[in-house]
Amino acid sequence: MPNLSHFHTFKINSQCSQLCEFSSVEELQASYLHNEQCYILGAGSNTVFVDDFEGKVLINKIRGINATLHSDGVRISVGAGENWHDFVAYTIEQGWGGLENLALIPGSVGAAPIQNIGAYGLEVGERIERVDVFDMNTNERFSLNQSQCHFGYRNSIFKQPESATWVIVQVHFWLPNNVATIATYGDLAAIAAPTPTAIFNKVIDIRQRKLPDPAVLGNAGSFFKNPEISKKHFSALSAQYHSMPGFEVNEQRVKVPAAWLIESAGFKGKSEKGVGSYQHQPLVLVNLDNAQGSAVISFARSIQFEVERLFAIKLEPEVRLIGRSGPILL
Ligand code: NAP
Repeated sequence: MPNLSHFHTFKINSQCSQLCEFSSVEELQASYLHNEQCYILGAGSNTVFVDDFEGKVLINKIRGINATLHSDGVRISVGAGENWHDFVAYTIEQGWGGLENLALIPGSVGAAPIQNIGAYGLEVGERIERVDVFDMNTNERFSLNQSQCHFGYRNSIFKQPESATWVIVQVHFWLPNNVATIATYGDLAAIAAPTPTAIFNKVIDIRQRKLPDPAVLGNAGSFFKNPEISKKHFSALSAQYHSMPGFEVNEQRVKVPAAWLIESAGFKGKSEKGVGSYQHQPLVLVNLDNAQGSAVISFARSIQFEVERLFAIKLEPEVRLIGRSGPILL
């Protein structure tokens, strides 16, 4: 049975029944049987195989970057298997701004729209014009425009049950000329001349300082989503916890950094059975010592339990947890 530890960045020593790569829709079609249990993987940076998966893992390696220049911007069509950061770096090298805030997010281009990756004030859905999909159930290929993707906070149609048999094959971006740079978040606000290149370099610098390199320490980035709570709930909590940060989402909701909740619940830098909360960013769970999937689940549940007990906030996983028969809930 193929070992999955080299195919997901949390590096749990799990297995699957079969593993194959595809670099075109035709190869994808030839690689599975109708109704067979499959899981489509990109770079494996947001998936944690917490058990042996009783099915086939198909790795998306569809490549290619094609750009067409227009008088008002550039349209770029990118194969889903391209590396996300390399693609962002390529746009910066070409002098095309618009994606710089999303530098160094691990993963593939095809994974980016699924959770609508976002960082430092920008979400990828804002730059996506269209996503091409292949449906493994009907064998049809079709496109969804930006509004059909239903992009939300770390969310999209690609996380809904209706898309369970869809495979993203290509993503089309539109980067308008002279797109306004976004340098309002934290350390970015200190950049004197916030050009796309300056923002790109700063984001890389921040992320390298704060986040563990998966090549050195197994992890899947932020393990939980940053929760949104009601303003009433936030007011009650901040009366009790004066240092609690909160960012207004709209008139009713406030976003609370999950990292603060986890640190305040006493988990920062703590570990159990080889799984820990990273010392410089507690929202990232790390594989310290050949952790088993059951230890990851148990540690994550302890964090959820304690945060809910203290703050009445339920942390939801941002990562995809895959068990024997597919996705599992915490
Ligand atoms: P951070 O910058 O410490 O922020 C923690 C939380 O506070 C996030 O929910 C962030 O909102 C919010 N926040 C911080 N400054 C804000 C501002 N000026 N205005 C509004 N909201 C603000 O978080 P971090 O963990 O070090 O991550 C840095 C960035 O990378 C964040 O934007 C985070 O969302 C992003 N990130 C994205 C992914 C992903 O796409 N899968 C994974 C990890 C981190 P936002 O989340 O809306 O930014």
